[in-house]
Amino acid sequence: MEPKPRFAQVVVNIPLDRIFTYQIPPHLVEKAAVGKRVLIPFRNRRLIGHVVEITDKTTVPNLKPIYNVLDNSPIISPSLLRLNKWIADYYLTSWGSVISSSLPSGIGSKKKSIPIKKINFVQICADDTKIQQFLQKQGQKAPKQAAILNALQKQSEISLPQILKITKTTHSTLQGLVQKGLVKLEQKEVYRDPVRFEDESVRKKITPNPDQQKAVHQIQTALNKEEFVPFLLHGITGSGKTYVYLQAVAHTLQMNKTAMIMVPEISLTHQLLNHFYASFGDQIAVFHSALGQGERVDEWRRILRGEAKVAIGARSAIFAPLKNLGLIVLDEEHETSYKQDNSPRYHAREAALMRAKMSGAVVVLGSATPSMESFHAAVKGAYTLLNLPRRATPHHLSKIKLVDMRKEYRKQKNQCLFSHTLKEAIHQRLQRKEQIILFLNRRGFSSFLLCCECGHVPKCQNCSVSLTYHANENRLRCHYCNYVCAVPQTCPDCKKGMLQRIGFGTQKVEEEARSLFPSARIERMDQDTVTRKTSHQQILSRLGQGKIDLLIGTQMIAKGLDFPRVTLVGVVAADTILNLPDFRSAERTFQLITQVSGRAGRGEVPGEVIVQTFTPSHYSLQCAGRMDYQSFYNREINYRKQLGYPPFGKMINIIIRGAEINTLKHAAQRLVNFLISLKPDEITILGPAQAPIFKIRGQHRYQILLKANDTLLLNKFIRKGMAEFYKGYPVKGIQIDINVDPINLM
Ligand SMILES: [Zn+2]
Ligand SMILES: [Zn+2]
Repeated sequence: MEPKPRFAQVVVNIPLDRIFTYQIPPHLVEKAAVGKRVLIPFRNRRLIGHVVEITDKTTVPNLKPIYNVLDNSPIISPSLLRLNKWIADYYLTSWGSVISSSLPSGIGSKKKSIPIKKINFVQICADDTKIQQFLQKQGQKAPKQAAILNALQKQSEISLPQILKITKTTHSTLQGLVQKGLVKLEQKEVYRDPVRFEDESVRKKITPNPDQQKAVHQIQTALNKEEFVPFLLHGITGSGKTYVYLQAVAHTLQMNKTAMIMVPEISLTHQLLNHFYASFGDQIAVFHSALGQGERVDEWRRILRGEAKVAIGARSAIFAPLKNLGLIVLDEEHETSYKQDNSPRYHAREAALMRAKMSGAVVVLGSATPSMESFHAAVKGAYTLLNLPRRATPHHLSKIKLVDMRKEYRKQKNQCLFSHTLKEAIHQRLQRKEQIILFLNRRGFSSFLLCCECGHVPKCQNCSVSLTYHANENRLRCHYCNYVCAVPQTCPDCKKGMLQRIGFGTQKVEEEARSLFPSARIERMDQDTVTRKTSHQQILSRLGQGKIDLLIGTQMIAKGLDFPRVTLVGVVAADTILNLPDFRSAERTFQLITQVSGRAGRGEVPGEVIVQTFTPSHYSLQCAGRMDYQSFYNREINYRKQLGYPPFGKMINIIIRGAEINTLKHAAQRLVNFLISLKPDEITILGPAQAPIFKIRGQHRYQILLKANDTLLLNKFIRKGMAEFYKGYPVKGIQIDINVDPINLM
């Protein structure tokens, strides 16, 4: 009997969000399955697609057959396919492109085969009496060959490099045994072993404090229920969150389930990794940018085959093919690096929550400074809040001192990069042979005007974000709604001072520091000095070796900062962070100051943080100074609520970019007109406005911001609007990026 006709629903890695139907030829019917890759004819090309469904009915006539099925077993589980579909729908991109980016490169859509590493293994291939005879007769004359046989009698097979090493012999000695027919070489598949960090010091037994015990108990109880339960673990720096994570993972493994640990950047989490390796060893698979392509594929395969049960990695680890998932831990959940910058622009935290929901797993979001979104969810009761308010380690918390730069300005009447307080503190540390770090905001977008008398910064009346100063037109501009105004003659607040630019770069600070502290060894770390990854590490290791007295840098040094001899951290101009044209600027400021204060003085000597600002009364600085997250949250959430910013409203940012300004302006205006003509009342549209960073790599950028209470409504609306916009429009020379729940509005 003829087999029934079968059809494959296939998605491919193209921006178009469509599913294509192909006929499965009879000889491939058995092999074709959901989650496998297939080779298909696609618009006169051969492409690799992913099978998302198999049916025996179709309404489409004259279907082309698939050429081949590329996998022996599915490489994507039905549950991961569902997660990818959710990401595509939510973040307005195509299913095929999400699937492709969810696979390690090398398995994606370009190459056909998974690269496999094979090495030679040595085994005994003669019977026991023959071996004994050889050892008795020739063991004395050929001690090296005897050593090889002895080793192989204890262990049935040993890899070639290893056996040569342990018996201190050469390949030709071994070949002698092969020729005698006593041993044989066999090629076997092995995993490339990524760098393992292991450090015995982490094995010491920890006695948990009552807060840690309570948190562990609550998570374990939730794990036992085997259903979706989200937790927010709010623990101050050094409160022992890692202990809680380890216990949660151990419990998950005892239940014969798998766990995923997500970290913002794996190169900065050596300590956390050490703890996990010490506890779970080979059960761990790690994903990070330092792995080669082969290593990455191997780690991925170890999970796919169920050999590794704990996946640890940055953002993309969310796609690790774990089966029977019981737990997802997302450490430093407030970190912006969890949001992918290019398509698909997913947020790993949201994807983690969705994956856990789909798998009936427990999620633990951990942070010392939770995002407004997560803490709000905990306050509403959507997440269970776990608190670790005490330090588990004996180190002291640093003192945070706010320096009022308005007073300095009145005394010195200059730009005053260094206040008297900061200068004194630096001198003191240099004398005591301790180290200092000075922070500046990322250079390039600190063009706002500030009154040095009273600290006032002009803000947009509609959007409550700082207005950006445009020197070429001498005007102030809002990058959200495009509101424009002239620069006032005197400060509108105190009516006394003049509005001034106070943005300055790391280079300027370096020059000033060199003239103030001529004998100090000063280095600078920013995008100019850090060109390669290694150089970042080189500067930090020089700091660790005590070869630098004073390091000046951008936020990149705030992360992974852990140097016991650094006892002073200076935030040179807190206002440049506080006045970023971004509604999250207060949150970022609070996070940064908390982060650096947790880092200074990790050794015996308590640390000090000096924050220079023209607005010392700002709640984010005041609360950070007192280490009072709750008060900060209460103030900030009010501001968000009043203006409908997240977590209350949902946002989508559309960036239109291109080389030619007029074409771009025209396209942006046309798109806004379309959107406005179609929009329901619940949606607010702002712009088009120049993006705060107007030009990147030769391309100019305009942005359109959309706000509403409901993401689904916004998503549906944009799909419709974009389709209308593209109809009969020659989209030449422009590109449109849609960013759902944008984190960075620069
Ligand atoms: Zn505005
Ligand atoms: Zn003023």
